[in-house]
Amino acid sequence: MAQRNSVRLLSRSTCSRSDMTYLRDALSERVGEFIQLRRDIHQHPELAFEEHRTSALVADKLQAWGYAVHRGLGGTGVVGTLTRGTSQRRLGLRADMDALPIQEANGVAWASTKPGLMHACGHDGHTAMLLAAAKALANDVTFDGTLNLIFQPAEEGGGGAVRMMADGLFEQHPCDAVFAMHNMPGVRTGHFVFRDGPAMASSDYATIRIHGTGGHGAMPHRAADPLVAASSIVMALQTVVSRNVDPLQTAVVTVGAMHAGQANNVIPALATLELSVRALDPDVRRLLEQRIKDLVAAQAQSFGVTAEVDWRAGYCVLVNAVAETDFARQVALDLVGPDRVTLHGPALTGSEDFAFMLEKIPGSYLLIGNGDGDSAGACMVHNPGYDFNDDNIATGAAYWVALAERFFSQ
Ligand SMILES: [Zn+2]
Ligand SMILES: [Zn+2]
Repeated sequence: MAQRNSVRLLSRSTCSRSDMTYLRDALSERVGEFIQLRRDIHQHPELAFEEHRTSALVADKLQAWGYAVHRGLGGTGVVGTLTRGTSQRRLGLRADMDALPIQEANGVAWASTKPGLMHACGHDGHTAMLLAAAKALANDVTFDGTLNLIFQPAEEGGGGAVRMMADGLFEQHPCDAVFAMHNMPGVRTGHFVFRDGPAMASSDYATIRIHGTGGHGAMPHRAADPLVAASSIVMALQTVVSRNVDPLQTAVVTVGAMHAGQANNVIPALATLELSVRALDPDVRRLLEQRIKDLVAAQAQSFGVTAEVDWRAGYCVLVNAVAETDFARQVALDLVGPDRVTLHGPALTGSEDFAFMLEKIPGSYLLIGNGDGDSAGACMVHNPGYDFNDDNIATGAAYWVALAERFFSQ
């Protein structure tokens, strides 16, 4: 069994503010182990579904602390389960483990050792925070219920949450509520941000192929130019958000790539467009898909070409449940005080596959500030200069412990 050191955390069923301060201080005292762990994971980043080293590290730690460990769920996912007492209450806490295909620009001692790969979204930190909480919950906290710690692969577009759910995540490890935390650059270190209702956008993708008839650039009347049709479609797409979507709703239609032709005197036979499409409401999401398909068909017809839309549904809208968000918010208020809590932050047009877990189980996705102003933590995620702020590990872990404590005392 892992060492049960002199720091005793909470064993009471309800936590006062002074308990919370004590809890955070206690975790701060021994957080060095988890800062080292975070940096170790940072040095060894792994892409979606390739998190073999990271998931083995997570599973081995959980097992050493007495968790029942389920490896290989959704490929490289891990669930650690700890049941205490007789209560039927079941809590799920989720962290993500994957890195990104970005060349790290940081000169820190713990910089990535893998060329072209880095933890540029802080999933190394999310994993370390939840592991620090896992150790405290196993060794220092008395609770009554079942705790499921979910370490998922492939958040960055790979749909690791969906893969774990397809493998029976919630059938084998039922949860009454699930929570997840992501760091947020630009927000003060250790500051918590909550939002109930839609909080992050759906993210869909479309490839539009416009088929014309190629020909000589000097004789356009003998061809059907897909490039001109594509240009018109790009402009027409700008009207979907401005003219079809309710102005009080949020939507994004971005044409991120346009490919056609190779020579100045050749009319190509094919033009392709790549789109990213986002919404914060499922009805708006459906409207965007329908309008884009209708508009492309009508535009193609008007230019005498044909077009096909290859629509690929990505992550769904992330909707935080009201009651669970209230609960999570109160835990933060008691832990760090109202000055360090944003009760209802703005929605984000980024997307997040925890949304699929929230479609099935009520819960909440919250943010913890990674640093603001000129601090290093203010560098945005997915930037080569980004690094997770280790000052958050004690606070984030204390938050998870406090949330679990309170959840099981209800
Ligand atoms: Zn990311
Ligand atoms: Zn992320």
